[in-house]
Amino acid sequence: MRRLFLLAGAASLAFAAVTGANPAVSPASAKAPAAASAEKQSGFARHVMVAAANPLATQTGVDVLRKGGSAIDAAVAIQAVLGLVEPQSSGLGGGSFMIYYDAKTHKVTAYDGREKAPMGATNRLFLGEDGKPLPFFEAVLGGISTGVPGAVAMLDMAHHEHGKLPWADLFKPAEKLASEGFIVSPRLAGMITSKAPQAKAPDAVRYFTKPDGMPYTTGDLLKNPAYARTLQLIAKYGASGLLTGPIAQDIVGRVHEGPRPSTLTLADLAAYRPTKQEALCKPFLTYVVCTPQAPSGGPGLQIALGILNQTDIAKRGPDDAKAWFEFAQASRLAYADRDRYVGDPAFVKVPVAGLLDPAYLKERAALIGEKAGPVTFGIPEGAPEVGPDKTAEPGGTSHFVIVDAQGNVVSMTTTVESIFGSGRMVDGFFLNNQLTDFSLSPTDSDGTPAANAPGPGKRPRSSMAPAIVLTPGGKFVAAAGSPGGSAIQAYNLKVLVALLGWKMSPQDAVSLPNLVAKGDNYGADPFPEPIMQALAERGMTLSTARGENSGLQAIVVKNGGYEGGADPRREGTARGF
Ligand code: GLU
Repeated sequence: MRRLFLLAGAASLAFAAVTGANPAVSPASAKAPAAASAEKQSGFARHVMVAAANPLATQTGVDVLRKGGSAIDAAVAIQAVLGLVEPQSSGLGGGSFMIYYDAKTHKVTAYDGREKAPMGATNRLFLGEDGKPLPFFEAVLGGISTGVPGAVAMLDMAHHEHGKLPWADLFKPAEKLASEGFIVSPRLAGMITSKAPQAKAPDAVRYFTKPDGMPYTTGDLLKNPAYARTLQLIAKYGASGLLTGPIAQDIVGRVHEGPRPSTLTLADLAAYRPTKQEALCKPFLTYVVCTPQAPSGGPGLQIALGILNQTDIAKRGPDDAKAWFEFAQASRLAYADRDRYVGDPAFVKVPVAGLLDPAYLKERAALIGEKAGPVTFGIPEGAPEVGPDKTAEPGGTSHFVIVDAQGNVVSMTTTVESIFGSGRMVDGFFLNNQLTDFSLSPTDSDGTPAANAPGPGKRPRSSMAPAIVLTPGGKFVAAAGSPGGSAIQAYNLKVLVALLGWKMSPQDAVSLPNLVAKGDNYGADPFPEPIMQALAERGMTLSTARGENSGLQAIVVKNGGYEGGADPRREGTARGF
């Protein structure tokens, strides 16, 4: 039964990914083409492994590792390629969170390249003249949605510490693809003609229209000489090539244009510094799971894992409806807490210790019960007075995982926030709309500030939660992560339960149907009828109306090497040697 279950799920999901017709919803009734085999996206390798969302990016990473490059070297080269071939998801104009495992010291570091709001931003950033929050896409398309991009600066920092190959060389593969052209993939083609308002924004239309007036489509060769020139500057000057000088001037100039011009200055860009700190590492089953700290999705994912740690889910399996009930309840409880409490810890008190305290998690797990009732946030130790959250998150993000020949590991989630970010471009790349990851409304009705309210120099809360799993002794076990907007927490939770609890292969684990339980919503991929029925009896009616698809990539240690898997819902591949 498990076998059938997996293939049926993977096939209809792959259909949704390939058509790209409506990236927001995968129709349950869609007929899947016979060719949709999850197997082609997975791989085993003895020495190194890369899993990324686009085959050109995966190949670039493997090539860098073959030349003796480190996992961080490969990450730099992969990001440069993804920004070109998957511009709907991540790029030079975006931000990122990265978890890095050092094979020698067994230390796990969390790098934070999250965008920051300009110093001129206030908590009224997204309020209209009437004092009400702007309609979401009006906010996205405005100059005000762009934060200072942090992904390149974060990689620059990590490369100084862990790079082996020269920084400049790592941009050559992407530069070549940009100047000679790359083949437009089905997913990118689907995004170009999608209903996303950014796809209709003037910069996007200009870039994606062929000389004959038609949009670029699957199989077309697309060149981006401006992107190649930008890479040359970054190759030469590091992150300063982006955050100072002519490109910085272009960024400021573009976001100062209407509608809704930004206050972003050259000083905001030049002042950007990524950060790094110890990862947030917590026990799950017999393992230790490491994620980034707040304002990332790390704490939310850890709450969900901590709750499930109090259940028997590992003894159950993917064919067991009770397992999915526990999974959904833990998700709902964790979302309620993370929505309430997580914001930028440099600005608001985030009670992480209280939220992850075993006694508190036990109390929360006791609320799982036998039937789905209403869930609300808890009051952990150190909980501050914060208002309800009004954050909205549509999708446009990528995840990749890398293990190098020395056993160092990268798990990186990277994003321009929405599809093609704000829809505005400079110098061959899209500008992010990450600041709409703030709660557009800064307060609740009685004036209590929201933890994730906008503020000057503040980082918006993220759902991104790249994970690395170790043994308690510090040996590498697995790396995984996904895009998906607020559904990231559910996607990552699923893959970790499937890998660590149900001992599934990475490919089977990522291909499992997704269930995103948040509040009273149970958005899901098609599940086998008996599971849907059993869940309905417990008060959970699954619906296919759900947000962004997952784009999970995962690697596990196996048989003296590594096994990788890539999500059949997108175009990723896992390769190594
Ligand atoms: N901007 C979102 C975040 O940082 C991610 C969006 C997505 O996954 O598409 O959490």
